[in-house]
Amino acid sequence: MRVAVLPGDGIGPEVMDACLLVLDGLGLDIAFEKGDIGLACHGRTGEYLPEETYDLVRGCDATLFGAITTPKEKKYVSPLLMLRWELDLFANVRPAACLDPSICLRPLDLVIVRENTEGLYTRIEHVHPDKVVTERIVSEKACRRIVEYAFQYAARNGRKKVSCVHKSNVLQASDGLFQRIFYGAAVNYAFYNKIKSDDFHVDAAAMHMVKSPEIFDVIVTLNLYGDILSDEAAGLIGGLGFAPSGNIGEKHALFEPVHGSAPDIVGKGIANPIGMILSAAMMLEHFGRPELSKRIYEAVKATLARGARTPDVGGTTKTMDFAAEVAKSLKSE
Ligand code: ATP
Repeated sequence: MRVAVLPGDGIGPEVMDACLLVLDGLGLDIAFEKGDIGLACHGRTGEYLPEETYDLVRGCDATLFGAITTPKEKKYVSPLLMLRWELDLFANVRPAACLDPSICLRPLDLVIVRENTEGLYTRIEHVHPDKVVTERIVSEKACRRIVEYAFQYAARNGRKKVSCVHKSNVLQASDGLFQRIFYGAAVNYAFYNKIKSDDFHVDAAAMHMVKSPEIFDVIVTLNLYGDILSDEAAGLIGGLGFAPSGNIGEKHALFEPVHGSAPDIVGKGIANPIGMILSAAMMLEHFGRPELSKRIYEAVKATLARGARTPDVGGTTKTMDFAAEVAKSLKSE
């Protein structure tokens, strides 16, 4: 296996170093190959995503991505969005599980499967003198693909229910299409896999996630709703530093923490590396090594149970010290 490692900007390199320290302890037969991306890369090379990096990513089995800083430049297109489109990484998988009860606001254990290529992220905006009209695309193909992925994910991971989150009372044609396709697939999965299904308007889903999160197992939703709900979910399990994610396509997959480059804490060595470490765990699961992924999750939980905390959740543990503790837990398992 070959994995492209793109640390990026801000705390990206800090959490990536922590993640690689943990992976190092597993003695994996994986070649990790570093590539340049983001704002600092632009300063060095004049490009946010050099062709070299793109070739590296294409040639690897998966990518580990840290974070990038968004510049103020008007014509800027995020290299991360470019990678998602170019590699057709259509499914954004964002698990949110409470790792230690003392950190979580709610006892969450859910997975958000977010459509990653369409919706309001098309960047097609028509600027008129008195208004801006933004195109929002919801295609049958993308809906089928993401709905199938969500049910298959549920079946593979022993999840019991998939909830469709939409706003079909207002967006009747587009979100109505998504909802109809969802229930079309749900019939098969109920019959063959005993997976239940239901649906929620996005506003109600946001409320239920706080009030009664146990009603959710897997959520499948459109791009913008998934973006917002997954930050809400991250907040409930301790904050952005705890949330991993995977961008999955037919041929490639990219794993990254949900958080950004956090310029306000860069260079202090205090970033929470858990989102990055668990993103690597998701990658190992994707490679067909769920036992290794589980070991990393258990090691992170054990580290938290021993009281290690980065400052974002009131502790004093430094990024690399936290990673060293996780690596120590892995060895003692
Ligand atoms: P960007 O433009 O790169 O998305 P941002 O500051 O808008 O940057 P985030 O980087 O996600 O967005 O940061 C939001 C807040 O959460 C910041 O205050 C940041 O310090 C904090 N934060 C994000 N990730 C972490 C982390 N891993 N550990 C600790 N704090 C974090």
